[in-house]
Amino acid sequence: MGRYMPGRNFLFVPGPTNVPDRVQRAMVVAMEDHRSSRFPELSMSVLNDLKKVFKTGSGQVFIFPSSGTGAWEAALTNTLSPGDKILASVFGQFSYLWVDMAQRLGYEVEVLDVAWGQGVPLDRYEQILRFDTQHRIKGVLACHNETATGVTSDIAGVRRALDAARHPALLFVDTVSSLASIDFRMDEWQVDLAVSGSQKGLMLPAGLGILGVSQKALQAMPAAKSRRCYFDLADMIKANATGYFPYTPALPMLYGLRESLNILFEEGLDAVFFRHHYLAEGVRAAITEGWGLKLCAQEPKWYSDTVSAIVVPAGINGAHVIDVAFRRYNLALGAGLSKVAGKVFRIGHLGDLNELMLMGALAGAEMAMLDVGIKVAPGSAVAAASNYWRTHDPVPKKRVSQQEQFYGSHSTGSIQG
Ligand code: PLP
Repeated sequence: MGRYMPGRNFLFVPGPTNVPDRVQRAMVVAMEDHRSSRFPELSMSVLNDLKKVFKTGSGQVFIFPSSGTGAWEAALTNTLSPGDKILASVFGQFSYLWVDMAQRLGYEVEVLDVAWGQGVPLDRYEQILRFDTQHRIKGVLACHNETATGVTSDIAGVRRALDAARHPALLFVDTVSSLASIDFRMDEWQVDLAVSGSQKGLMLPAGLGILGVSQKALQAMPAAKSRRCYFDLADMIKANATGYFPYTPALPMLYGLRESLNILFEEGLDAVFFRHHYLAEGVRAAITEGWGLKLCAQEPKWYSDTVSAIVVPAGINGAHVIDVAFRRYNLALGAGLSKVAGKVFRIGHLGDLNELMLMGALAGAEMAMLDVGIKVAPGSAVAAASNYWRTHDPVPKKRVSQQEQFYGSHSTGSIQG
């Protein structure tokens, strides 16, 4: 074992994120019978309340004891048949991995290679969909927030591209690092499969794969011939109807989820999105104005409010910054993955977090950069971020949006074992 590191580890990877104390406490429960007559109270409450987070009234939400990757697989195998054509774009490690999975599952993927630092190419999607007059494309994949590069894509724009081409393909969206931190509107954008996980905006440990499914996608299931077993939604639908699961659920995670939903609704979803944007703007000010460094995201329209990938100067290995930050300052930063390995490091700014926590991350990253020879001005990140945060509102001016009125002032009932 290494030496004891006093104080808290500063966890600033873009997932897993900090688990709030309230959520941690809610998960410390004795095991109980998941077939008891009381269990459905918990399961029904989290399944119903997750719909509010996905912003869906007509869709159905599923929870698997898996990570986000399992929900990717559930989305594909429940709605497609081997050989089906999929349109997808790759601009980072996670958009790549989803395509890789689709290929390994036997679908024919038309892959658009996009520069890492950009997002879903809407014009090219529309053009290809218009050209597909036979409607051979059955699914369109879009990664809402590419965690590897800190790029957010315009999902409303993907829907417009499908509509402009009058194309009936199912719309699959990866919301793993956007849900509950960046606005996502499943019904309004007519997203058919929305894939997510527990360890990011939902502020839980990894362990739940979460999937929002539209009525259109549910109707596609009987004709979908892909082999599926553990992730078969039909089994889940049958068991969930009475509040149970087809296998043993991850009970403490469900109690944790109940509490994280309570927290999200107490703050208000719009306030949560606003806070993420406000915090991200301060981080971006620190990176670009303070340090004078570049983001991997090439233009402001791609900037992610949940993660920033920072390009290190030529001749410096980003992994070195991360290693010094971790060993010397007890700060965990995100690594550059695959194509951008060594070229970037990432600061996750999502979940349960505020200005001063981010100040710690910025100061730690700055010290580590100085230590490895990057010539940034000491104190410049804190100066730029504080200048931004001190002159901007941390909460929306109008606290109750129409969106929130529509989705109600959510119940915060706590269910405890
Ligand atoms: N999609 C995105 C955008 C991600 O960031 C991740 C993980 O970081 C995944 C998918 C995979 O999720 P998991 O690691 O929970 O399987």
